[in-house]
Amino acid sequence: MTDRYCVFGNPIGHSKSPRIHAIFARQTGQDICYEARLAPLDDFAGALHAFIEAGGRGANVTVPFKETAFSLSTQRTPRAELAGAVNTLRFDQAEIIGDNTDGAGLTRDLAVNLGHALHGQRILLLGAGGAARGVIGPLLDQQPATLTIANRTARKAQDLAEVFSAIGSVKSINYAELAGNDFDLVINATSASLSGELPPLPPGVFAAGSLAYDMMYGKGDTPFMAFARNQGAARVADGLGMLVEQAAEAFFVWRGIRPEGAPVMALLRGE
Ligand code: NDP
Repeated sequence: MTDRYCVFGNPIGHSKSPRIHAIFARQTGQDICYEARLAPLDDFAGALHAFIEAGGRGANVTVPFKETAFSLSTQRTPRAELAGAVNTLRFDQAEIIGDNTDGAGLTRDLAVNLGHALHGQRILLLGAGGAARGVIGPLLDQQPATLTIANRTARKAQDLAEVFSAIGSVKSINYAELAGNDFDLVINATSASLSGELPPLPPGVFAAGSLAYDMMYGKGDTPFMAFARNQGAARVADGLGMLVEQAAEAFFVWRGIRPEGAPVMALLRGE
């Protein structure tokens, strides 16, 4: 019997996940179906339990349900605990196992697809929301020289730096204090690009040979990517690779087989 998976979100119509997982299933010969499900804003738990009762084997979770999915999980992986949010659920008997594959997706896109090794790098992470929090642990696992977090609301960056300082070299900084500092990798984990805005970066943050990475993806450059090109970043990338690789990691969690992300990215870019 075909195993059922889905992605929950609200809104969800724009999601590329059904397309990505359909390609992964073909690529690996796995018999699964994967659909997008709109969950009511006030009843994610109801939607989740209905899917489990209908025989669902696992699910992805996107905005705005990642924190609720965390609380509804009866077991959580260490990386989900660190992220404080869940984007991948696996249903096993009566257990709802919560995982988070966003950070693994980002680090794989950086290291494998973009060939940008993180060991010894000076990394600047912009933003202190859910996406930023989810990637800090996996970034620190790669042993960068430093990880610096800047956020518009400085307190949130300070809190994150405190939480994660137990596992690596991480500190917070105000945007204004960034002047005079440069970095080998600058990751935009803010939602500024969604509204066509640029985080208040001073000039000079992109070191020679640096990579500028925006978690947002779409057609053409985001304001952050355009700024980075202008400021001399050696390379710029958007977050499509992260999206595909977090999906590949979720597929691996469910099926024990790791699909190839690169051909799927090429396909999606061409559409
Ligand atoms: P949140 O709402 O949790 O956090 C938003 C963050 O952006 C906050 O730190 C906020 O600062 C900051 N911010 C918003 N507007 C501005 C601005 N104009 N200037 C500076 N900072 C700003 O969002 P998420 O963390 O969930 O998502 C962030 C981004 O990451 C989104 O664009 C999302 O699409 C993307 N994403 C991509 C993924 C992928 O697979 N490619 C996966 C997950 C997320 P403050 O605290 O001051 O409000």
